[in-house]
Amino acid sequence: MERPTPPLPGDAAEREAQVRAGIAEIKAADPAFDAEVFMEQVRSEFLNVKQALSAGAPEQLRTYASPDLFQTWMAEGERQRESGVRVESRELEIEDTRLMWVFHGTAQDEITVGIDAACAVVGVREETGQVVFGQPGHAQPVTEYWTLLRPAGTPSAPPRPVALQCPHCGAPLGRGPAAICQYCSGLLPPPLEGWEIARIDQSLQWLERPVDPAEVARRREEQSWDDGLDAFLRGGL
Ligand SMILES: [Zn+2]
Repeated sequence: MERPTPPLPGDAAEREAQVRAGIAEIKAADPAFDAEVFMEQVRSEFLNVKQALSAGAPEQLRTYASPDLFQTWMAEGERQRESGVRVESRELEIEDTRLMWVFHGTAQDEITVGIDAACAVVGVREETGQVVFGQPGHAQPVTEYWTLLRPAGTPSAPPRPVALQCPHCGAPLGRGPAAICQYCSGLLPPPLEGWEIARIDQSLQWLERPVDPAEVARRREEQSWDDGLDAFLRGGL
């Protein structure tokens, strides 16, 4: 039986301990997991996702996201096509990424990453290329929280050398971010194998709320009951 994901710790210090413990648990079950490699792959995925969405081509991202999130992207793409205005993220640069939340469960692993970036969000009229909103050249800070899931027991793929050729047509791949081959339009494997993006949030108020010491104490107590129950059940099997 899967326990529900426990609430996110409220402050950075408490989160850090939880993140370290979560990483250790994931590594115990999957020794090939490497948090540095994971974060690098998240950054690649972030660039690929923004590029595909900016190009009005969410269909390139089928293998990146959960079915629900993929449907959201497809619906947004459709809405933009109908309105004739495409929303682009220009001058995109990642400034910082950090682990916010790591949970190793019996059914799935769950990691939330905070991504600080800068970009200019610009609306472009499809027919004319005219900018109808946003300020090109004026990148603004943006933060997104990506939550990624994988089923329990999924081993991390060994780090792959950077692919130089399209696996479908053998054409050389450019250096920039790309979810598809620009020659044959074949889908390229996503940087993060085995994981899917389950949700993307612009803010996590639940995560950044001030800590209530009584709430922390209550949570610890519940946790120890849960641990006790787990131990009891395991002992009884
Ligand atoms: Zn190709």
